[in-house]
Amino acid sequence: MSDNNAIYDLVIIGGGPGGLSAAVYALRAALKTALIERAAHGGQINLSDSVENYPGFTHVGGAELAMKFVEHARSYGLEEISDEVAAVEPGLSYHTVQLAGGRALLAHAVILATGGSPRKLEVPGEDALYGKGVSYCAVCDGFFFRNKNVIVVGGGDSACEEGLYLAKLAQKVYLVHRRDALRASRILQQRVAADCKMEVLWNTVVEEILADAGGVNSVRLRDTKSQDRREMPIDGVFIFVGFEPNNQLVPAGIRKNSEGFVITDAQCATSIPGIYAIGDLREKYARQIVLSAADGCMAALSAAHYVETRKAKTDADACELPASLAVGK
Ligand code: NAP
Repeated sequence: MSDNNAIYDLVIIGGGPGGLSAAVYALRAALKTALIERAAHGGQINLSDSVENYPGFTHVGGAELAMKFVEHARSYGLEEISDEVAAVEPGLSYHTVQLAGGRALLAHAVILATGGSPRKLEVPGEDALYGKGVSYCAVCDGFFFRNKNVIVVGGGDSACEEGLYLAKLAQKVYLVHRRDALRASRILQQRVAADCKMEVLWNTVVEEILADAGGVNSVRLRDTKSQDRREMPIDGVFIFVGFEPNNQLVPAGIRKNSEGFVITDAQCATSIPGIYAIGDLREKYARQIVLSAADGCMAALSAAHYVETRKAKTDADACELPASLAVGK
């Protein structure tokens, strides 16, 4: 349910852990808040088979944890708007959030919580074979590769986690990594090493993904040390080579780093007053669910202070006597 003529204290764009945590804190601070999400609430954690590092949960399904975030925010009466945001236009009095459906929301403060998306490998065959053997989500597509041979590209937490998930279904998982050491956390590295269905192809890159009429059937690999090339038969290619910010809605004038992540201060405030960036959208040392949730808390508390200060100033300005009526004049 939404109110067509409202001016919001806070509009949150994005319903992942960051956005939903911001909603909990904003609603508890009695801010008039709306949260806009174009797809399912929960964001990327919906795609995680299992989460084992969110404090308080030794093991919880990604979709289950996402639902807990949603239920928590809803328990405070969250106003949810299911739409795509077309633009965020900063203003002096209010910021405007333009919805693709045509509506415009006015808000004192806006939290951008749009997260990020998988980075592409940028090799021939990748785009054309997406959905035909090329995937960016093991939980979504792993089922189609039961008892088959797959490649996972990348050496970070995502590649290892998704590779371990695929190893439960596939016959064999080859982790193709461009260096001789994984970037992933030690515990994931140990699990990969201990999984007899996983094999790491060190110092190796995928140069091309090839197919026949049935979809992906092989990859062309290059050894980064010897520069030797070879073709390897394979049924599927899962790509986890990093992450790019979904920064399309970030207004011009907000500072970003060279990779497109938004630069904020410690309170998640951007370079435009009243606009905040949280979670995987902003420049930070690590990308974790708990950090997105913490960002949401910080931005909402900071926004609450910002909105109260603005309102107090507006009230004071309204009460001020015109100079001609002031005592002694
Ligand atoms: P990441 O940590 O940036 O790792 C990307 C991996 O892909 C790196 O190993 C990198 O190699 C490799 N790579 C990048 N470009 C490549 C290319 N063009 N060709 C071949 N390989 C390429 O990304 P991520 O694994 O998606 O993780 C993103 C963030 O989310 C991290 O902060 C991570 O800790 C976090 N995360 C955490 C968990 C968890 O805690 N369970 C799970 C998933 C993600 P190099 O190592 O050589 O650079």
